Amino acid sequence: MSSQQLDAVIVGAGFGGIGAAIQFNRMGYQDIAIVDREDDLGGTWHVNRYPGLTVDVPSTTYSYWFEPNPYWSRLYAPGVELKQYAEHVADKYDVRRYMRFNTVVEGARWDEDAAVWLVSLAGGETLRARFLVLATGYLCQPRTPDIPGIETFAGRIVHAAKWDDSYSLEGKKAAIIGTGSTGVQLVPALAEDVSELTVYQRTPIWVMPKFDLGFTPATQRLFARLPAAQRLLRMSTDGFMDLMVTVAMWKFRRFRPVNRAAAAIGGLHRFLSVRDKELRRKLTPDYDFGCKRPTLSNTFYKALTKPHVHLETAGIERIEPDGIVSRDGSKRDIDTLVLATGFDVWESNLPAIEVIGRDGRNLGKWWRENRFQAYEGVTVPMFPNMLTQASPYAWVGMSWFDTVEYQMRHMNRLFGELQRNGANTFEVTEQANARFLQEMLDLLDDSVFHLGNCATSRSYWFNSSGEAPLFRPTSVRHAVKEQDRFPLSDYTIA
Ligand code: NAP
Repeated sequence: MSSQQLDAVIVGAGFGGIGAAIQFNRMGYQDIAIVDREDDLGGTWHVNRYPGLTVDVPSTTYSYWFEPNPYWSRLYAPGVELKQYAEHVADKYDVRRYMRFNTVVEGARWDEDAAVWLVSLAGGETLRARFLVLATGYLCQPRTPDIPGIETFAGRIVHAAKWDDSYSLEGKKAAIIGTGSTGVQLVPALAEDVSELTVYQRTPIWVMPKFDLGFTPATQRLFARLPAAQRLLRMSTDGFMDLMVTVAMWKFRRFRPVNRAAAAIGGLHRFLSVRDKELRRKLTPDYDFGCKRPTLSNTFYKALTKPHVHLETAGIERIEPDGIVSRDGSKRDIDTLVLATGFDVWESNLPAIEVIGRDGRNLGKWWRENRFQAYEGVTVPMFPNMLTQASPYAWVGMSWFDTVEYQMRHMNRLFGELQRNGANTFEVTEQANARFLQEMLDLLDDSVFHLGNCATSRSYWFNSSGEAPLFRPTSVRHAVKEQDRFPLSDYTIA
């Protein structure tokens, strides 16, 4: 066991972990370890590097408010620029020095007597820290589908989240399983290279037109010299995203027509992109807009109309060494299988590691037996001095930065109080946590999740009990404001 006691251990070196480290520094904590199982920083933007990857939230919004990047090449920047941005922020705010890569965290346990977190690493080392931050993200456990025969496939299988840059797709007869946000970006990119592409779609996704624009060097210089100009653009992208999510999803009861209008835009986009009626029918979702993550693309539908691209919707019966057999008996011969099958959100994640709090409470077990819950989406009773980022009711807006930054504000108020009191520990009270959970459940009553037709959406936003506890069903503005005024008495500070 390491004898050194750290101020904090942060699990995850993505934008969440980087933000938490910056916030700790601002509050005067310097002894920090950021541990990550990958070999570099950037989280999802280090791991995901499949062809066609771009951010699908405007980059002006998908970035820290306190660190605008004037150099995005486009409104929807390519993935590689997000990775560069992560490196830039880590260096500018000098938090790279805390990072330890290729380091797998096996679990964390609260030591009541010493009032420290003991964080066990693979290999036997244990880190001791006053504070623990779980910054592992919602989408960090890639899912491989359990399709009969997949292990017998003799060609190459590539998972989108484990892309092999050295593998050439040129001229390949490929198939892709999955038409979520990842599949929608991958299909047009794959279609450029391969000789045949079969797209296996189980559930159609809502695809919206993408109003993208490139930023010329002159615009970038303007943003660099006059940050207010970029701020103005950000305010409009922030405002639009926040309004759309709040009105179309959370205020569905009152603003159902807005949700319907969004669906109509999606329908028009499909109509203009796909002339073949039967193909269009197959691509039409039969669940409400907003039940499942919609995506943006001007190229997905068009790619599906190309002669060498085929959409299969009959369902997969089995995989054989040289191809895929559909439920209707047809077989496609392939040599490459691309999996865009998403992530396991509910089984091996939430939390991504075993976390044991006070009196031996196991976080994952407790959440599963007592509903997923976290006060303000960031702290949990019986888990003193712990912050969890990808938590129940934490995901606000569509940009991950909205969540990270409101949580940084929460830290600011909470740790300020801790320091003013010269105290060692904080723990949210059971009452405050129960009150917050009830508020979230009440708000969800007005949402598309409760009132819309989501039954056939197969959305990973719902768990196996049919609950949708990932999102904080409020505007980003509301979430941010709340962090400056939550009652400090909601915490036991000792
Ligand atoms: P996803 O939304 O979970 O989609 C997975 C796809 O695989 C779905 O179409 C799913 O079909 C299909 N699938 C899974 N198992 C299958 C099986 N056994 N047989 C047939 N089909 C199967 O995952 P994702 O596309 O990776 O996206 C996850 C999230 O990542 C997104 O919601 C978004 O938040 C984020 N993301 C962001 C960006 C970006 O900003 N650039 C890009 C990509 C992803 P069903 O729908 O029928 O289950």
